[in-house]
Amino acid sequence: MDSSGKVKHDPRRDLPQADRLIRCVRDADPALASWAAAAGARATLRRAREALEAGPERPVSLSGLTDAALREARRLARGHPHRVVNATGVVLHTNLGRAPIAAGAAAAAAAAASTYTDLELDLGEGRRGDRLSAVADKLVLLSGAEAAHAVNNCAAALLLALDTLARGKEVIVSRGELVEIGGSFRIPEIVERAGVRLREVGTTNRTHPIDYERAIGPQTGALLKVHRSNFDLRGFTSEVGLETLRRIGASSGLPVIEDLGSGTLLEAPGLAPEGHAPSRLRLGADLVLFSADKLLGGPQAGIVLGRRTLVAAMRASPLDRALRLDKQTLAALDWTLAALLEGREQEIPTLRMLSLSEDELDARARSLAQRLCGCAASRLVVEIAAERAPLGGGSLPGVALETRVVRLRGAAGRISADGLAQALRSAEVPVIARVHEDAVLLDVRTLLPGDEEAIEAALRFAFAP
Ligand SMILES: *Cc1c(COP(=O)(O)O)cnc(C)c1O
Repeated sequence: MDSSGKVKHDPRRDLPQADRLIRCVRDADPALASWAAAAGARATLRRAREALEAGPERPVSLSGLTDAALREARRLARGHPHRVVNATGVVLHTNLGRAPIAAGAAAAAAAAASTYTDLELDLGEGRRGDRLSAVADKLVLLSGAEAAHAVNNCAAALLLALDTLARGKEVIVSRGELVEIGGSFRIPEIVERAGVRLREVGTTNRTHPIDYERAIGPQTGALLKVHRSNFDLRGFTSEVGLETLRRIGASSGLPVIEDLGSGTLLEAPGLAPEGHAPSRLRLGADLVLFSADKLLGGPQAGIVLGRRTLVAAMRASPLDRALRLDKQTLAALDWTLAALLEGREQEIPTLRMLSLSEDELDARARSLAQRLCGCAASRLVVEIAAERAPLGGGSLPGVALETRVVRLRGAAGRISADGLAQALRSAEVPVIARVHEDAVLLDVRTLLPGDEEAIEAALRFAFAP
């Protein structure tokens, strides 16, 4: 009641009952799973009720609620993660799942997942085997390292290395290398979680050998070098190279760990030499750690290469059990490493994308532009342009690759670039593109087989009546 004594109308009472809204959603899309229709309707009603409680009264139409509930229900019903087209040109896009693995690697993972396997069985001896030996053997062959190991991701590899080699002690890191990668990975936090004290040396832009030498004492457990994966330090800078770090470490009996982030096992055009893990070992790292789903082009995993005693100590740690790889990932990683050993790196999508020639990019751009002209010629201006795109995924900061894009612009202001990009993202197979100067740019470098057709379908969807 208000002050005049009248009963105030509660707009929440105008909202439909849940059952009614669920029925509307199911009528609108009979193919929708019933759990998703119900959950979508309930979530929509809850939000509408909260909005009415919080803000000024607004009329809520049943059709508006049905549309919102339908969207929510479809979102819930859709598998996750769901295929999208990466038309950003960013080869290693963390939000898009970094490296897509090779078709052969995916098939190996699927086979390992759906059958019994010799995961931990030595078939010759008939007794317990080692789940990691096949992958470790291949890593040793590819890198020349004394020993190798693999865990869940590079962050896990660093955690395990620090826990094993420096727990209760200090690890020395240059202030120029205390990086954050993708928000959830910060070197100081990982170090602390490993039960290791961080000893920062040098300054943001300059660190000298004497800084490390002065910091070393009985409390020191290891020297850590971290690759600046996602930014570039330029100007008045200096850092201590691996050769010098090894000399400093060796004189005090301390291991040098390098977190390489985006490491590679190949020396190939398009791959920066500073990421080549075997070279890092030769230069002086006792342990090199890197992600398998960055420039290696494999599944998510953290690769460890280095000295036999150090790798054995890591494998013997109880923490290793908590960080171990599952059989699907092992199968995909094993396939990827075999492809590298056999010189079949062109079957690995990441490596193939990085090695595309300008002629190949041109041909892809022409083919895509032709297809899109055919389906939206009256509504869009479709052009081919040369562009530069970053590599992404914490690799090669400051490096941009020469690439080709198909540029879409609404004819005579029919649709804005942001509007078009959003419509493409809402398609059945969403297309993720860049927007630049009121045009949508579709970079052909990162397209996979079948993506051209998906882009055409998304464009038709965007212009559907
Ligand atoms: C990407 C990156 C990591 C994290 O790797 P994950 O495999 O995602 O755990 C760690 N260190 C560096 C230097 C990186 O670039």
